[in-house]
Amino acid sequence: MKLLTIIGARPQFIKASVVSRAIDEQEGFSEIIVHTGQHFDANMSDVFFNQLGIPRPNYQLNIHGGLHGEMTGRMLADIERVMLKEAPDRVLVYGDTNSTLAGALAAAKLHIPIAHIEAGLRSFDMRMPEEINRILTDQVSDVLFCPTTAAVDNLAREGFSDRPVKILNVGDVMQDSALFFAKRAVAPKGLSLPDGFILATLHRAENTNDPARLQAIVNALLVIHETVAPIVLPLHPRTRAAIHKAGLTLDVHVIDPVGYFEMIWLLQHCGLVLTDSGGVQKEAFFFGKSCVTMRDQTEWIELVNIEVNELVGADQDGIITAVGRRFGQLVEDQNNLYGGGQASKCIAKFLRNI
Ligand code: UDP
Repeated sequence: MKLLTIIGARPQFIKASVVSRAIDEQEGFSEIIVHTGQHFDANMSDVFFNQLGIPRPNYQLNIHGGLHGEMTGRMLADIERVMLKEAPDRVLVYGDTNSTLAGALAAAKLHIPIAHIEAGLRSFDMRMPEEINRILTDQVSDVLFCPTTAAVDNLAREGFSDRPVKILNVGDVMQDSALFFAKRAVAPKGLSLPDGFILATLHRAENTNDPARLQAIVNALLVIHETVAPIVLPLHPRTRAAIHKAGLTLDVHVIDPVGYFEMIWLLQHCGLVLTDSGGVQKEAFFFGKSCVTMRDQTEWIELVNIEVNELVGADQDGIITAVGRRFGQLVEDQNNLYGGGQASKCIAKFLRNI
């Protein structure tokens, strides 16, 4: 079976690294990798490929920047050309980025079956570009690999159970990857801090593109850094630009985006995670840390339900209070919420027998 995999953004490199490895272990597969170029920053792209051992992409489309429509449209046109040339038996797409949607749409129009990894996740907020991408991608996929029971339930509510599609709860590929790479953790160069710092990430458009939200978050980070524990913030280029544009200063330990192995080290050694990322909420849990999430809703609702993750939006006082309350609290995965590291093997086995 000839698979064509679309990747383009940081978390997709991480997910593809474990799934491609599992596919490689099965007989009878060949995989073509198309890198759209959505994340082009050297720290966020090259380092990820090198560290994660993903085979060099067969196609580098180099599409980044521009508004959503332009970016997605250019991807759609280029991906379609690649698909016509390669004639794959199936397309694999991951998550919820513009690359995901462009890959799914191109394949659907060419009648190539699509497997969506991380299907069924919902934030129930249609203002998020990610929500639009994931809903539309699920609609055109015929194999929906869900990471959680909440994701399966979302699809059932939307009527997918009555359609001729396969819905499987395989667990979360990010957990496979966290377990697989945990031993390769390495401290970021030049960072000398005692354990127990707060690891923060900030890049969601709803926070970076809204000056009032950004200001409230920056204020909260400054107070926390002064009064609770030092904050280490690997800063996404988009956030750096937004902070600069808003004339704000962020006097915490700001570092460049780090490679995945450095990120794992930070997760292992921090005392709490403060984030607006999707993946990092789960990684906090995989590495036994409490999480405070600067969003109004989350796709990973099971962590909120078991009270290891708290949603605080961009409310300055809410962020400070939640961090103060949760700092240093360790958490345990008692119910194997994310499948225990078997997701990529399940995916590869299912695809082989399809
Ligand atoms: N990540 C990383 N270096 C960084 C920031 C994040 O390796 O400087 C990793 C993080 O550990 C997680 C993934 O990138 O595995 C999540 O990416 P991001 O927060 O960009 O995306 P989201 O999950 O919100 O889509």
